[in-house]
Amino acid sequence: MPSTSKVRGGAAKQVVCTHCERPIEVGRRAMSIFCPHCKKRLILEDYKITSYYAVREFSTCGDIVVEKKGHVVAPIKVGTLTVKGKVQGTVSARVGVKLMKTGSLQGDIEAPSFVIEPGAAYDGFVKIGPAEPPSNGKSTAKIKRS
Ligand SMILES: [Zn+2]
Repeated sequence: MPSTSKVRGGAAKQVVCTHCERPIEVGRRAMSIFCPHCKKRLILEDYKITSYYAVREFSTCGDIVVEKKGHVVAPIKVGTLTVKGKVQGTVSARVGVKLMKTGSLQGDIEAPSFVIEPGAAYDGFVKIGPAEPPSNGKSTAKIKRS
């Protein structure tokens, strides 16, 4: 019988599923889980990229740091993305994107905050603002008037 150890108050953190964008509570040391809502696998790790890395999809609930020698070619979904090297692909960050002075980024960005250091190269469109709630029709609050 699988043990379903409940995570207690302080030992858990909340993340948002990179697939269905619904909130999930996870254990602090968990590296990956299956989303209880959409059943897809969810990566929770932080990444540090130090070489060429090309994938079809690069998503994590954690953070990604692309080091100076790093070169990522992928659509990225992430918490915070820090770019010191190269990134090619659309970026959707839940927290923010930081493009350091040694970095170059090519692709559209959607994030609540985007910081570019002088000297960094950027080519793409940016959409900055608070993350929109998932539009599954249920997000409109009902207001009762008496
Ligand atoms: Zn999900």
